[in-house]
Amino acid sequence: MNNRAVIVGRFQPFHEGHKQVVDSYIDEYELVIAIGSASEEGTEENPLSFEERKKIIRGCYPEVEIVGLEDFERDDEGNRKWLEHLKEETEAEKVISRNSLVKSIIREDEKLELVEQDLHDPNIYSGTEVRRRIKSGEEWRYLVPGCAEEAIADKLEKIKKSGIQYEFEPGWKRENSYHDTFEK
Ligand code: NAP
Repeated sequence: MNNRAVIVGRFQPFHEGHKQVVDSYIDEYELVIAIGSASEEGTEENPLSFEERKKIIRGCYPEVEIVGLEDFERDDEGNRKWLEHLKEETEAEKVISRNSLVKSIIREDEKLELVEQDLHDPNIYSGTEVRRRIKSGEEWRYLVPGCAEEAIADKLEKIKKSGIQYEFEPGWKRENSYHDTFEK
């Protein structure tokens, strides 16, 4: 028996909600942070590479072990490979997650214990919202911890360019209103 617990997430990017969750377990377990979708990069949901995300998290936790987990097919065989990889890379006995697929995979394993984390203000802190704000030029800094802010700021252009490109212009224009009933 060991006291190692792995906290799984994509951390695209690491934000204040993630930090609150990590902080709430850091004294209880020997914590490992596993960055999921490590091989994905440049997509709408996964703009940052594993190394970039690791660097951002490292700014907050200089000592915590950080590993990357690549994705496999989302079928029984792929999920089994993903689980084996997680076990090998982390040697953890407990897995902290709220992801429904992760939870079902861990529950089927006889040895691993699932720790269902509480999300910290998920309506305020969300990776999707941080990315949306960066892409639309809105304020995003208040959603991320100070220890991660500058490393994320270094990656703004990459986050803006990843995935679907939207045209954002400041200010509301009547002609852009989809329910416009006025003459243009
Ligand atoms: P997710 O589905 O992206 O996240 C689930 C929700 O939990 C999101 O709202 C997320 O918020 C939030 N969240 C995740 N970690 C958090 C944390 N530490 N603190 C606070 N909120 C957190 O999934 P995920 O749990 O981040 O990542 C699971 C990873 O495992 C993915 O990379 C997935 O591809 C991988 N996986 C792969 C396989 C396979 O290859 N077959 C199978 C299972 C899982 P945010 O959006 O704000 O982060």
